[in-house]
Amino acid sequence: IITASSCLELTLAMIKPHATKVPYIVKGVQNIIISNDFYIVRSKQMTISPDLAEAFYKEHKDKFFYNRLITLMSSGISHVYILARQNAIKKWREIMGPTKVFKAKISHPHSIRGQFGLTDTRNVTHGSDSVESFKKEVSLLFPEFNVNKWYETEEIHFR
Ligand code: ADP
Ligand code: MG
Repeated sequence: IITASSCLELTLAMIKPHATKVPYIVKGVQNIIISNDFYIVRSKQMTISPDLAEAFYKEHKDKFFYNRLITLMSSGISHVYILARQNAIKKWREIMGPTKVFKAKISHPHSIRGQFGLTDTRNVTHGSDSVESFKKEVSLLFPEFNVNKWYETEEIHFR
């Protein structure tokens, strides 16, 4: 029986540029993706331009860390993923741990940020925080990906 709860949800995950340079961290994050039963629907490596980083993080434009964040995000290659799982958005954020790395290291030492985070900005990974954010982020990083069509025609093939 296929129930509503067996349906998959999509999220957007990213390994940030400072972390893609470290094979040990890339391998660690990829192992975490696989061992938590996420399907990798799309994945690519890309260098995010400053303009794209600004569009991606525009809700933070008045924050003290904004320039630092844009500099980091456009400083090298990011690994970008569309992942599918039940409750993917919530689950991926849980696995990443708290935004602030030093808090993560104390309260969530086994989370991605707890294990591999360097600073509050260089916190290894990104994950969408809501369905609305996911849709916005996909349209920026995978403009050719049709979210509605995926749910209509492909979701069932991944279960
Ligand atoms: P999250 O990535 O957990 O969704 P936010 O959306 O609040 O966190 O922030 C976006 C990114 O900005 C964070 O992942 C981190 O790289 C950076 N950032 C957030 N808060 C801080 C902070 N207090 N100091 C430095 N960098 C920060
Ligand atoms: Mg966020």
